[in-house]
Amino acid sequence: MPGYFDTKIEFLKGVGPQKAELLNKELNIFTFGELLQHYPFRYEDRTKFYKIRHLTAELDHVQILGRLVKIETIGDGRRKRLVGYFRDETGEMELTWFKGVQWVVKKLTVGAVYIAFGKPNQYGRKFSIAHPELEIYTAATENRNAFQPIYSTTEKLRAKFLDSKGISKIMEILLQNALPQIHETLPTSILERFNLLAKKPAIKEIHFPSNPEVLRKAIYRLKFEEFFYVQLRLLKLKLTRTEKSQGQILSDTNLLTEFYKNHIPFELTGAQKRVIKEAYNDMRSGKQMNRLIQGDVGSGKTMVAFICCLVAIGSSSQACLMAPTEILANQHHEGLKEFADMMGLNIALLTGSTKKSERKKIHAALLSGELHILIGTHALLEDIVQFKNLGLAIVDEQHRFGVAQRAKLWAKNKQFVPHVLVMTATPIPRTLAMTLYGDLDISVIDELPAGRKPIQTVHRYDKDRLKVFGFIKKEIELGRQVYIVYPLIEESEKMDLKSLMDGYESIARAFPQYPLSIVHGAMKPADKDYEMQRFVKGETKIMVATTVIEVGVNVPNASVMIIENAERFGLSQLHQLRGRVGRGAEQSYCVLMSKYELSKDSRIRLDTMVRTNNGFEIADVDLKLRGPGDLMGTQQSGIMDLLIGDLSKDAPILAIARDAAQNILAEDPDLSHPSNALILRQVQSQRKHQVNWSRIS
Ligand code: ADP
Ligand code: MG
Repeated sequence: MPGYFDTKIEFLKGVGPQKAELLNKELNIFTFGELLQHYPFRYEDRTKFYKIRHLTAELDHVQILGRLVKIETIGDGRRKRLVGYFRDETGEMELTWFKGVQWVVKKLTVGAVYIAFGKPNQYGRKFSIAHPELEIYTAATENRNAFQPIYSTTEKLRAKFLDSKGISKIMEILLQNALPQIHETLPTSILERFNLLAKKPAIKEIHFPSNPEVLRKAIYRLKFEEFFYVQLRLLKLKLTRTEKSQGQILSDTNLLTEFYKNHIPFELTGAQKRVIKEAYNDMRSGKQMNRLIQGDVGSGKTMVAFICCLVAIGSSSQACLMAPTEILANQHHEGLKEFADMMGLNIALLTGSTKKSERKKIHAALLSGELHILIGTHALLEDIVQFKNLGLAIVDEQHRFGVAQRAKLWAKNKQFVPHVLVMTATPIPRTLAMTLYGDLDISVIDELPAGRKPIQTVHRYDKDRLKVFGFIKKEIELGRQVYIVYPLIEESEKMDLKSLMDGYESIARAFPQYPLSIVHGAMKPADKDYEMQRFVKGETKIMVATTVIEVGVNVPNASVMIIENAERFGLSQLHQLRGRVGRGAEQSYCVLMSKYELSKDSRIRLDTMVRTNNGFEIADVDLKLRGPGDLMGTQQSGIMDLLIGDLSKDAPILAIARDAAQNILAEDPDLSHPSNALILRQVQSQRKHQVNWSRIS
């Protein structure tokens, strides 16, 4: 039943069909409710006036009260500009216009007192504001609102008078009518316990704040509510699944014990043991496992995966491991085949380049149950790939896979949904993990195998290249191998390929004595593989590559990672690349090469890399720099379309809201208690409007 808030925006006084269409197109606002949730993205204090003497270049927008003492046009042609000299009792500054000069001249009254508003820029010792907002000072200006809301808008909307002020005007009209219709959406118990503002004043205050303190409370309340319902939904999903999805009981440890006693090549770390135990407890519980394993690069996730496979196979089911690239699938297959052979288990590899005859064999062996472990790429997901009894599905390097693909794995066992282990080497800040994987159980491998020396990272400018070459030579003479990585970013693929080739040639010239490998995305998979293999076997000493080597590739003898144009990589990518070295016993190095002029963000990225090896710390910085949507790729960004909450800043609110949701579900999992009726109604009404949450897993 459509309610008041579903009313189409064109029926709002002051909007009409034309503006409504623009609001639809430009801001995705269709209804009263959606307009009401178009919250200001910042506020300006319009009671505070800056003195000209106190201006600094770092200030954002400021408001200055002064007298316009003179105007003049300076320059001509395209460089013509209008300058207004603006004075208060502390000094003088300039107001400048480059466009619409004639029109502005007509509007200005020399000698009048104005409020000028804009961002001050410094030229020499003088300040100026370009294209200021100007308003004649009157007594009425004194009584206006302390905090003016600033709404996001677009050029097209501005042209139709829907600039921030215009939006504020229609918001005012809407609020007058809508306020009585707004109902509380959080139960009193929660409002009281967390000292939250009620919904009605919160909505009013966020648009038209009466003072900073109430505004803060309004924002807090609305963020809390948003996080609370997102978390409630995810936790509920998790509950329903653990209750509804029976899992087959995989509890036999005979194979595991045999492997552990006779074959395992190293002692497991404490963290590996703990995570294996957590997964094992899930697999034998009779409930379906949905677990995310977060572990920094090199923390030994593969061994954890293999041991879990042994539990599944020991309990008469099969296991599969899906990797995001062919190179990785190959490497997993090679590494695990050694162990599988020791244990007398059958393992196979299925990728896009598996031959048809081989494929057929694999399909048959999977169906008969003869094949115990299948390693592969997306090729695993094809419908034709059917198992006799898939007990455990492992997804490596999760961030490359979409939600829909995970769902396909589920369908691989008709009787019981397979247990699912998702492994990611991209450490995710807690807030993100709770949202993105809020419906999964999370295990963290927070310990690296003993004896690893931390990778030493340095930042060098292009002019130091000769020294870096000298360093490469020294390391190779010590018997090590070296990666040199170039960026390859799609929009400039041709240029990048050229810089890779130029780089390759200059390296070949600098090191005629060493055989080189080269790998890039434009090569045929077979050629790529051949080159990779030569490097893996140690036949080549230097691997020149694009980021195709980013994930998972393991060459313990490679101890140097040179990253060219490092300023062009994102933080998590840099961290992933660096993780390709430091896998053996030798001291490893990462050299970040960049040009001299760097943007602020690039500098923060490179400094962070030099400062720390800790993936979680790096992920936090990355989240702050890029924001959550970007961090996880567009694939999953839908679920992070928060209206007001900000995952990079609001960790504390999120944690409190999640706890609150958890407490409620612990006492009343179905939300059937009368005191939770309001919550239940809210969950149900939101379900209609929002993304299909059941897809998220
Ligand atoms: P990742 O977590 O990045 O996938 P891998 O599973 O590839 O890491 O392991 C990295 C390297 O560390 C491999 O060479 C692996 O054999 C080795 N390794 C894993 N666990 C241990 C351990 N407990 N002790 C020593 N080496 C280990
Ligand atoms: Mg790995």
